[in-house]
Amino acid sequence: MQPDKSFNPGISTRVIHHGKSYADNTGTVMPPIFPSSTFSHGNPEGFDYTRSGNPNFRILESVLASLEECKYSTVFASGVSAITAIVSSLQSGDLILCEENLYGCTVRLFEQVFSKFRLQTKWIDFSSADSIELIDNLNPSMIWIESPTNPLLKIIDLKKICDKAKENQIPVVVDNTFSTALLQRPLDLGATLSLTSTTKYINGHSDALGGAVCTQDICWKDRMNFAQKSLGLQPSPFDCWLITRGIKTLPLRLSRQVENALALASELGTHPAVAWTRYPFKADHPQYELAKKQMKSGGAIITVKLKADQKQTYAFCKSLRYFTMAESLGGVESLICHPATMTHASLNTETKLKLGIDESLVRLSVGCEDFSDLKEDLSQHLSRLL
Ligand SMILES: *Cc1c(COP(=O)(O)O)cnc(C)c1O
Repeated sequence: MQPDKSFNPGISTRVIHHGKSYADNTGTVMPPIFPSSTFSHGNPEGFDYTRSGNPNFRILESVLASLEECKYSTVFASGVSAITAIVSSLQSGDLILCEENLYGCTVRLFEQVFSKFRLQTKWIDFSSADSIELIDNLNPSMIWIESPTNPLLKIIDLKKICDKAKENQIPVVVDNTFSTALLQRPLDLGATLSLTSTTKYINGHSDALGGAVCTQDICWKDRMNFAQKSLGLQPSPFDCWLITRGIKTLPLRLSRQVENALALASELGTHPAVAWTRYPFKADHPQYELAKKQMKSGGAIITVKLKADQKQTYAFCKSLRYFTMAESLGGVESLICHPATMTHASLNTETKLKLGIDESLVRLSVGCEDFSDLKEDLSQHLSRLL
């Protein structure tokens, strides 16, 4: 749909009423699924082979670009495929200056795969004051950040980093999976690329994997399309269709999840079996002011440190009724994760402790259930720790 200047629909409208369905003469309300691997040569829309484009990719890309209020979006098979696409645009020997607390599979990809092609990485704390100086001193080829971080929910000043990077013409990638463009706008804050695992909040139903890269820069859009077809990183039309369906309720889902999370964070903070809780929009968060400035709300992830040992913490995670113990996040159902033995199990003890991940830490992905049920579930099982 071409934007109509006289009409400026809101975000909830735009994620529902996406662009064309490529089946206009049928009157279809939902777009069809186009499983075709190939397209007859010279068709008006310019499709040729699904590895390099498909109607379901384009439909989802148009919604994602509209959500992010940017010019271009490219979809991939997963968040990790999107990361691969970006890194594949670099040269052997290039340095990526990385936030030290990046998503675990990003770290594994850089250190165990791309390092073989002489990709250099340096890991720093982007919330510390000297990170700005390090950008000047190290002059990296790319900066890679994530905010809030996983699982400690550290907030990084995206604008400050992007302003500095811009002076030195260094592209900045922000992994925005935890917030989505609904809560935080990396491109508006100066990032070159906003990356999202659409597997999480965007799809929201834990039934498809996907990734996306948004940008305002046509050169980067071309690079992403090139990576999609040359590395075979394309999603399946069916998964795009599912994610296009899921995104329609993103604003509804997320507002319920954020409401639940905010209320749970303050409830948990006062429980005697809890050492501390961390949530970006809770006044005791170390970067509360920055979170308020940078994000529209605190999201729906809460990190909790229990007064318990590893065995008790694990038993607590397994005993909950509505929080399934599982990796991933962002679905309508609540999940609980024990980072020390799950998402961050591959890190050595020293790194875990440096990042603040110990055996009594748990991460909640708060879903859309009734608040009273979630609260009751947690408080009942927390009381057994006393
Ligand atoms: C899940 C996740 C990814 C990877 O996405 P997949 O779709 O699982 O490949 C990347 N970054 C963050 C922050 C994530 O949570």
